[in-house]
Amino acid sequence: MTAPSYTVFRSRSAVLPDGSRAADVVVRDGKIAEVLPHGAATGGELVDLGDLALLPGLVDSHVHVNEPGRTEWEGFATATRAAAAGGVTTVIDMPLNSIPPTTTPHGLDAKRKAAEGRIFVDVGLWGGAIPGNTGDLEPLHRAGVFGFKSFLAPSGVDEFPHLTGDQLEQALTELARIDALAIIHAEDPAVLDAAPQQPGPHYADFLASRPDDAEATAVAGLLETARRTGARVHILHVSSAAVLPLLRQARADGVQVTAETCPHYLTLAAEQVPDGDTAFKCCPPIRDETNRDLLWQALADGEFIAVVSDHSPSTPDLKHLARYGGDGDFAAAWGGIASLQLGLPAIWTEARARGFALTDVVRWMSAGPASLAGLCTKGAIAPGMDADLVAFDPDADFTVDPEGLHHRNPVTPYAGRTLTGAVRTTWLRGRVVNVDADAQPLGRLIVRGEA
Ligand SMILES: [Zn+2]
Repeated sequence: MTAPSYTVFRSRSAVLPDGSRAADVVVRDGKIAEVLPHGAATGGELVDLGDLALLPGLVDSHVHVNEPGRTEWEGFATATRAAAAGGVTTVIDMPLNSIPPTTTPHGLDAKRKAAEGRIFVDVGLWGGAIPGNTGDLEPLHRAGVFGFKSFLAPSGVDEFPHLTGDQLEQALTELARIDALAIIHAEDPAVLDAAPQQPGPHYADFLASRPDDAEATAVAGLLETARRTGARVHILHVSSAAVLPLLRQARADGVQVTAETCPHYLTLAAEQVPDGDTAFKCCPPIRDETNRDLLWQALADGEFIAVVSDHSPSTPDLKHLARYGGDGDFAAAWGGIASLQLGLPAIWTEARARGFALTDVVRWMSAGPASLAGLCTKGAIAPGMDADLVAFDPDADFTVDPEGLHHRNPVTPYAGRTLTGAVRTTWLRGRVVNVDADAQPLGRLIVRGEA
């Protein structure tokens, strides 16, 4: 007798594109073949999840893996183990903080070589548009990057400089010509320069140094340039609700603009950040509770296409963390939050308290980012899609122990928090993702237009 050629994933709570219901999901050759009523599938190998929810694997389109070059901050093996453990089955890696950055075909090759054989989930790559590389954009686009990231203010690393207004115009003109997506870190350098710069351990001083207006001014300028050039633009990690009216107006005017926000802006607030706890530092910053409520309202209204981690770790010393002997100086600390493994429970904890359902979370964290990146085989439990699946217990509580995470460095602002929602098993193309030290990585490098 031969092994059955298909597997049935049976759950009383499968999160499907048209809602949650009891279902049998039939998987054949790594793809979802059929979605049937609960109990209707016969034969095959049965994976009965009982009351556990069955979700499509999450797509995290904003992750800084940092390999090669800064692998001590995070690497492909550690990042993708964390992703799998957190229910994320597709990661799209940002073009900076690795050395070289993904701004040339050579940089793209270096990334691919670093990733090959080390990834536990599927990985795609964003390219970067920086001063002087306009000629590299089309070759990178043809080679399969998912779009191009640019900064409008200093990025934090020298090898990835930001664009001036003229350079942005040039880049967006080229991206419009080749029909590639521009993804933008939008803070305005002049507004940042004019803001009070008071170093030290007080979070309020750091917050004052990155005001709402830095985001709003940058987004306003970007939308004008997008309007003139016809480029498709995506605003990364919106932190300030001051950006929202600008986005609404631009959309009403026909500008092709989408936006994302992140778990830390939706679940944390400035009022809660302890002085000196630089694990909370990111740019743009976590703002106050009133602002957070406005972001939730915008999310409810469909104004964000995605909620993604912006996982951007560094070593503890660069975070100036007090518990590693650092001075807790927010101005000097690396700006980036580590949360790749925790995005789903962080968002679910807050979303449930606010009356949202798992279908909403899946829309924000799986279907939405898949559509942003143009992934046709990810982001839904439906026939023809990759069988990237997650068994999720929406009622399980756990307390975050940074030492127990797969992130390379045990630093996260969620340390010590009790979150609700636990990933029990993750499958990639129908196969259980095992992240043990001796496990075989199952992930594949994916390219735009082919996944
Ligand atoms: Zn980022």
